[in-house]
Amino acid sequence: PPDVTELGRSTWTFLHSLAATYPVTASTTQQSEMLQFLTIFSKIYPCWFCAKDFKTYIEKEETKPKVKTQEEFGRWLCEAHNEVNRKVGKKEFDCGLWRERWKDGWDD
Ligand code: FAD
Repeated sequence: PPDVTELGRSTWTFLHSLAATYPVTASTTQQSEMLQFLTIFSKIYPCWFCAKDFKTYIEKEETKPKVKTQEEFGRWLCEAHNEVNRKVGKKEFDCGLWRERWKDGWDD
């Protein structure tokens, strides 16, 4: 079975990198494709209990993915990651810094 920690670290890198390269203003097609990706991702992520909770999170009215702009998507993903941080007892990340961490870059 996959190492949940290693898989998670790599996957967050992938997901936040998606936000960092997402269009500043997304077309309706780009928005729809990202929503489709997140829906499929939540069904096939190789940690099944992680996937199940993530699927519940993206389906809830209050926490549905926001994908109109790069800023909105980056913030939403940061909040989704913070939800997992709380669940696993990790420190919350300051979402005002997501762009510095994942777009402009700093050493972890
Ligand atoms: P990670 O949480 O992997 O984060 C990597 C780096 O991202 C951090 O070092 C930090 O620089 C940065 N970062 C931290 N928080 C944020 C944020 N909010 N926004 C932007 N950047 C941030 N593990 C479980 O044990 N149970 C679960 O249910 C679970 N569900 C998961 C669901 C998903 C969708 C994913 C992708 C992972 C899940 N994981 C789960 C794995 C878990 O989130 C961590 O990836 C893993 O514990 C490794 O943690 P880490 O300390 O290396 O940092």
